Amino acid sequence: MDCDRIALMASFEELLESWSGEQAVIHRDRESDGWIFICMHSTQLGPAAGGTRLKVYETPADGLRDAMRLSAGMTAKLAVADLGLGGGKAVLAVPAIPQGDERRALLHRYGDMVQSLGGGFLTSSDVGTGEADMDVIAERTEHVFGRSLAAGGAGDPGPFTAVGVFHGIKASLARSTGSSDLAGRTMLVQGAGSVGGALSELLGRAGATVLVADVDAQRAQTVAASIGGSSVDAGKAIGTECDVYAPCALGATLNLESVPKLRCRIVAGSANNQLAEPEAAELLRDAGILYAPDYVINAGGIINVSLELEPGGYDEAKAVGKIKNIFDALKSVFETARKRNITTHAAAQDVADAILAEGRAKKAGKPAAAARR
Ligand code: NAD
Repeated sequence: MDCDRIALMASFEELLESWSGEQAVIHRDRESDGWIFICMHSTQLGPAAGGTRLKVYETPADGLRDAMRLSAGMTAKLAVADLGLGGGKAVLAVPAIPQGDERRALLHRYGDMVQSLGGGFLTSSDVGTGEADMDVIAERTEHVFGRSLAAGGAGDPGPFTAVGVFHGIKASLARSTGSSDLAGRTMLVQGAGSVGGALSELLGRAGATVLVADVDAQRAQTVAASIGGSSVDAGKAIGTECDVYAPCALGATLNLESVPKLRCRIVAGSANNQLAEPEAAELLRDAGILYAPDYVINAGGIINVSLELEPGGYDEAKAVGKIKNIFDALKSVFETARKRNITTHAAAQDVADAILAEGRAKKAGKPAAAARR
């Protein structure tokens, strides 16, 4: 047992050593026989913000690794979204997903931890948690967003993520064709869930021809029928001819095998981690397919819930106005990619790095332009 413990500590140590973040809080939660990891990757632009993932991992170190990796992704995502927030992520690594009183007690203990950080870490929902959990956490800390509408929160982020993807598709069309007009364009939406369903509706209303694919064929047909579109066999989505392929289901659909099969000019959708391997970004560029980096185009949900943190509380109209900025954020990514002759994936990181450098310079009291040199 002691040897196991030492091995575990060594691997935590290795992970912390290799991580580029600022602060990790590690708590052994004996009551649940689990672990709580809060990773604050960057506070250059503001408090570290990110979701709370509740998940069973093979080892506690896997949970810490996930929190570290995801928190770094949040730093880039929130920098480009220009919300004055840094990147963070929390993982509640449990031996089994708790329900009822046990879940509530775990969320309360976690809420106390978030509160103890004094606003340096702000959290919302992620895989395994939802708005009801955020309401419970809010019983212990004010540093939580993504609460239910009934509790004064912003509710389901899916439709707002869809609004952001909609503006992102327009920005992508403008770059690729010279016009952001959707009329007469064919869109293939893969995944007719919370984001894909709302996105299909927005695209249909804007005059696009919408094709919907979902492993739940009935769901695809229902969404397609409601907007005068058509459904497509889920297995044939990748090879279907269209102007825009919008992956709104699973991640990793863009890999060295699938990219050559694409018959579209743009990939722009909400799914997280769309590139199975970084080389897929180069393959897309070489094939003349414009890729809207996932974490730039899918920021609508986080932009929306972050409005809960404003002094006046959540305001939907204000949120929708901010989400429109995704158009300009993508425009800037595409422009950087063109100027520097790099992939849009690499350009998104460049844009995020420039914004972070500017934030660092501001903090240090140097003129912003100096940071960009
Ligand atoms: P969801 O669970 O509501 O919907 C996903 C849909 O995809 C379901 O209808 C499911 O049947 C379908 N699906 C699953 N596998 C498929 C496949 N192989 N082919 C076709 N359809 C398939 O999820 P969501 O909230 O709409 O999120 C969609 C994606 O966007 C996810 O990758 C999610 O991580 C990402 N995302 C969502 C949000 C948000 O606000 N909900 C924000 C950022 C990113």
